Amino acid sequence: MHNTGHRKDKIIIVSAPSGAGKSTVVKHLMSAGLGLEFSVSVTSRLMREGEVNGREYYFITSDEFRDKIANHELLEWQEVYSGSYYGTLKSEVDRIHYNGHVPIFDLDVVGGLNVKKMYGEKALALFIQPPSVEVLEQRLRSRKSDSEENLRKRLDKAAWELAFAPKFDKILVNGVLEIALKNAENVVRNFLDGAETF
Ligand code: ADP
Ligand code: 5GP
Repeated sequence: MHNTGHRKDKIIIVSAPSGAGKSTVVKHLMSAGLGLEFSVSVTSRLMREGEVNGREYYFITSDEFRDKIANHELLEWQEVYSGSYYGTLKSEVDRIHYNGHVPIFDLDVVGGLNVKKMYGEKALALFIQPPSVEVLEQRLRSRKSDSEENLRKRLDKAAWELAFAPKFDKILVNGVLEIALKNAENVVRNFLDGAETF
């Protein structure tokens, strides 16, 4: 099916400020026939309307989260927003590799760069950049998934997160959606096909 050498050792990391379009890009990549499978993280944050336990995240309590850290079940973890913990399960990565797929991770900028360091050349670290902070705010507001307080937390963090962009393998500006999705797909396909530049 995929005769691209060592593609199964590879991983895809996608990072961005909240609202930049990371979920939208990740969903598209997963439906593009690239053999990717989403690595479902654990989180202690509350479930949003429309989310399903085990699909977007495994929703657990802070105590359960602490147990997973203590039991070394996490590849990495971060307190992305104060009081909200997020972590990558080692078991997810194993499960996805066992399925013969390439894991795709949706990680905050710090977690993304940490995992890139662990996997080196085997990882493609993508940064999704909004056209501007103003557009980012509009998108977060139109998504209507966060309280005003949560929205402020996310916007306050965005400027700091944007400064990490140059450390990633590739920056994808998410302006016109169809163009951004096509670019994302091409970059991932080239990486999985073993191209030197993507
Ligand atoms: P993230 O996962 O980075 O927090 P989402 O993928 O949820 O961001 O996108 C935030 C909001 O912006 C969603 O309502 C989404 O439908 C919308 N959106 C994403 N990309 C674009 C785009 N290029 N143009 C307009 N709206 C977009
Ligand atoms: P949200 O609450 O909007 O779903 O996600 C908040 C942030 O947490 C996003 O930037 C997302 O990429 C990040 N995130 C989700 N899962 C993980 C994880 O397992 N580890 C890290 N480091 N960040 C994560």
